[in-house]
Amino acid sequence: MSGALKTEAVVLRSLKYGEADRILHLYTPHRGRIAAIAKGVRRAKSRFGGRLEPYFRLQMVLYEGRSELLTVTSADTITGHSHLREHGPALDSAARACDAVSRLFETADPHPGVFALLCNELALLDARPEQATLANQLAFRLKLLLAAGLAPQLAACAACGEADHLAAFSGAAGGVVCSACEATGFRLGEEAHAFMTGALGAALADAPTAGEQALRQAERAIADTVEHHAHVRWRSASAALDRRL
Ligand SMILES: [Zn+2]
Repeated sequence: MSGALKTEAVVLRSLKYGEADRILHLYTPHRGRIAAIAKGVRRAKSRFGGRLEPYFRLQMVLYEGRSELLTVTSADTITGHSHLREHGPALDSAARACDAVSRLFETADPHPGVFALLCNELALLDARPEQATLANQLAFRLKLLLAAGLAPQLAACAACGEADHLAAFSGAAGGVVCSACEATGFRLGEEAHAFMTGALGAALADAPTAGEQALRQAERAIADTVEHHAHVRWRSASAALDRRL
């Protein structure tokens, strides 16, 4: 395939390359994650201005030749998320969200739902930067798991189907497990369980929150799921967010 690719894209990463170029990792609705080179972008009079920075949502034209690396022909800003950049925790959350997408959806497989979810998360962090909490990041990651077909089973024991006494979580089993099957998992309290169920069922902006211990348990359940079923390790969901629980 060779020619012009017209697409929306979110800039996941932007790396300096050579004297004046940048390599971009982009997430697109219909081509998944792609890499592109923007030539001369670091020169003062570049026609791209400051647009090819992380978290920009762009309307782009890319030239696709024989190389895996596409070439940026044009880029127009849909939104630059400028508020998010003025708020440390929101910026940190945006970076973790982009990194999570980049690691779990690293191929050209189309996942328009993932693109929409990432756009929603960035728009939320931009409009309401105070929402950059650990609970928000975990809700986002749960929704990424859902989009990847990896959502943990939360309604009944993932090992035996028992609907009561769900006290633990097992990434290997694929969800919550009952007290009889608990040996395969780690303890997951009611509050963490309720948080995960609530987060999967609510819009990102309306995702529930929970106490620190419950959120830590939920984070471990999410990390175990993505490691076991996708062989992906995500960065911790928090760091700078720890103080904002
Ligand atoms: Zn069981």
